[in-house]
Amino acid sequence: MSAPQATIEVGQNEELNSNTRPLRMILIGPPGVGKGTQASLLEQRLGAIPLSSGMIFRAEIEADTDLGHLAQSYIKRGELVPSGITIEMMRKRMSTDNVRKHGFILDGFPRNIRQAEALDEILVEMEIDLDFAVSLDVNDEIVVQRLSGRMGCTKCGEIYHSQTKPPKREGLCDKCNSPLMTRSDDHPDTIRERLRVFHEQTAPLCDYYEKKGLLKRVDGSKSPEEVYDQIVAGLDLDRS
Ligand code: AMP
Repeated sequence: MSAPQATIEVGQNEELNSNTRPLRMILIGPPGVGKGTQASLLEQRLGAIPLSSGMIFRAEIEADTDLGHLAQSYIKRGELVPSGITIEMMRKRMSTDNVRKHGFILDGFPRNIRQAEALDEILVEMEIDLDFAVSLDVNDEIVVQRLSGRMGCTKCGEIYHSQTKPPKREGLCDKCNSPLMTRSDDHPDTIRERLRVFHEQTAPLCDYYEKKGLLKRVDGSKSPEEVYDQIVAGLDLDRS
């Protein structure tokens, strides 16, 4: 798609990145399990670039692009945006010098086997390997609880929760002072549809990556710090 693309601020940790081998990983998990929170921690601490397909779609919607218009009709119903469109969008976002240099944390992509196979092709084209895929495991009840009350920053994507992680100033991001927003698809009927789609289409990715010897399972019901510790356990963090 040649239409202008929405921008998201990424890769600001030059210092941190300077002596490390880029980390390349995927986060798999149902909506609300905390993929965005973990991607943000991994970015802050390890310098890899978070690429959230959902966040990219939302930025496209916000920027009023053709891609945004197209995606919106699927997103508001809790359905997946067609894979062909999603794959091309992610191919473009991944094939940059920045991502090559700093690595990536994919959040929300791939979402089904077709997308996982396309990601394999993108990685072959880029001549890079995936380090591992993390499955954040949690039951559906916890998901629903976490999604009701969730707010995200409209600029930097930082995630807040009215009960468990309220912002210091109501409605404003602690990090960049921009307004916070509740997502239109964080409503009960849409949440249920997104969970159904996850179990049907995305959960099979665990087998896909298990067979490749790349799957790491983590208990996603724990606190963000505990989940982070499980993700990085066994990782060679001094990767210079
Ligand atoms: P997320 O922010 O990951 O929960 O994504 C929000 C919505 O964006 C999803 O419910 C889908 O409608 C759409 N979306 C995000 N990532 C993908 C993907 N990889 N494939 C298709 N649709 C996606």
